[in-house]
Formats: sequence, C-alpha cells, structure tokens
Amino acid sequence: MRHKSNAFRFTAITASLALLLASLQVPPAQAAGKIQIVTATSDLAALAQEVGGDRVEVESIARGYQDPHFVEAKPSFLLKLRKADLLIVVGLELEIGWLPPLINQSGNPRIQVAAPGYFDASRFAQILEIPKGVVTRAEGDVHPLGNPHYWLDPANGQRIAKGIADKLSEMRPADASYFEQRYQTFAKRLQEEDQKWLEEMKPYKGRKVVTYHRSWPNFTEHFGLNVVGYVEPRPGIPPSPQHTLELIQMMKRENVKVILVEPYFDLKTPQSVAQQTGAQVVVLLPSVGGEKEIADYFKLFNYDVNLLVKAFSAAR
Ligand SMILES: [Zn+2]
Repeated sequence: MRHKSNAFRFTAITASLALLLASLQVPPAQAAGKIQIVTATSDLAALAQEVGGDRVEVESIARGYQDPHFVEAKPSFLLKLRKADLLIVVGLELEIGWLPPLINQSGNPRIQVAAPGYFDASRFAQILEIPKGVVTRAEGDVHPLGNPHYWLDPANGQRIAKGIADKLSEMRPADASYFEQRYQTFAKRLQEEDQKWLEEMKPYKGRKVVTYHRSWPNFTEHFGLNVVGYVEPRPGIPPSPQHTLELIQMMKRENVKVILVEPYFDLKTPQSVAQQTGAQVVVLLPSVGGEKEIADYFKLFNYDVNLLVKAFSAAR
C-alpha cells in the first residue's frame, strides 16, 4: 500500500462526497422545525445561539482553539452545509482559504454568496484597520479588507446579535417577537457585564502591550490598551530574526511588559522575547471554545479580562 498524505486523503474524500451530494437532491428549507444554522467560527455560533434560543440549531465549522485564517474543515461539514438554512461568516476574507470550496461543494443554493441564507457578519460591525491603499495577498497580508477579528469588542457583539435577530425574524416572521425579545435580553446583560469589565480594566488604561497576531485592535480599543508592536512582521507572516530583534529593542525602549499570544501560535519566539525584555507572555483567548469551559460570549470576556488584570497587576 502506498502512503497517502492527509491532504490527499482529504481531497479524495471531499471529491467523493461532492459527487455523492451532487447525485442527491438538496433538501428544501423546513417550514417548521428549527432553523439550521452553520457558522464559520465559534463566536458567531455563540451569538446566533443567544438570539436563536430553542428555535435554532447552530454549529460552527472552526473550533475556538483553531486559527480562523487556516481551518482544516472536516468533510463531514459538507453534509451540515447541505442542510443549512443560514450560513453566518466573519467575512473580510478571513475564511477565504477554506470556506469557499465547502460552500460550492455543498450544492446548497440557500447559502451561496449573495443568497438570502448567506449572512456576512462584518456588514454589521465596526471594522478597524481598513487599508488606505491597495493591499494584496501577494504581500502575504491576511487582512486585506480591514481587521476581521472584530467580534472581540462587546459593542460589535451586540451589533452582530441584532443583525442575526433581524435575519431570523425575516426567515420566520411568526417567531419575530421571540427573537427580538432574546436579543433585548442579551443586549441588556451584555451592557451590564461590559460595565463590570470596563471597571476592572480601568486601572490599566493606556498600558502598552505587544500581540502576536493583529487579533486585538477592537478589544484593545474598547478597553483602552495601547498595542505598540507585533511578534508577526505582518498578519499571517511568521516572525523573522530581524523583526524580532527590532521588537526586543522597541519593547525595552517603551518598557512593554506584556505579550499577548493567541493559543494556536508557537510560544518559542514570544518566550524568548519575554526573557530578553522582562515581559510576561499571556495566552489570551480570541474565541469562544478556546478552552473547554469558555462556552459563551460572556465567558470569553470574563476569561480574558481576568487574565489581563492579573498580568497588569503583576507587571511593574
Ligand atoms: Zn487575522
């Protein structure tokens, strides 16, 4: 037997599944029953669940501990996409490396781009870091349309939840008041929790941090932190010796004591930078499900705010 690579096996399975699916009819959207929602990421799943309650069934393709730019989607998701009434994506080309073929191969007309069941959450959020000139992927930048990690601001979480609630109401007018009520409840709780988070972070306003990837502009703007550098030279480009050297010099000059790292990056470079600058590495979670107990949108901010408060209070 010849050895087959995982990638080859995946392609082979995907191709045979696609053939199988093409030979079958896509089931029609159900008039009653739960609205079948597939989301690209776990944060969007959490928000959809908040407003959808027991009228929806939600599943995320990416897991919260995966880098959302580079997801290895299991072929089983083709079957889920095929049944989906609604697909919710982050957009801004975050999923460009892995989602388009799945949408295409699902053969489900309801969730194709521009179909009513394709929901781009970025249209409802405040987007930061929109490039002024033309940025192409040829330069390796994975944020060519602005920063796609926008869910890390509670205000954006609320805006997206409102957008989803309106979408669900449009799909199921009979349940519109249910979705609106759930949205109101979520928004009220989120604002209350956010007051608490802001209060806890207040003593650390203006603190300088370095982050591995540009995952945190919305988060740091909301909480008044100052991101002065990145471990990656550009989004999606791994650390280089030259960049790391400049980063260390800058951190010493600016007295930066905290490096935030997403859980899916190698800690080697951040740790060596930390060693040479007296900083500490904090593995902050960018998504719901980054750890098993982080099961919803509130727990995500609770977890991150707690870690930051600990890190800042320990730093001199
Ligand atoms: Zn990114």
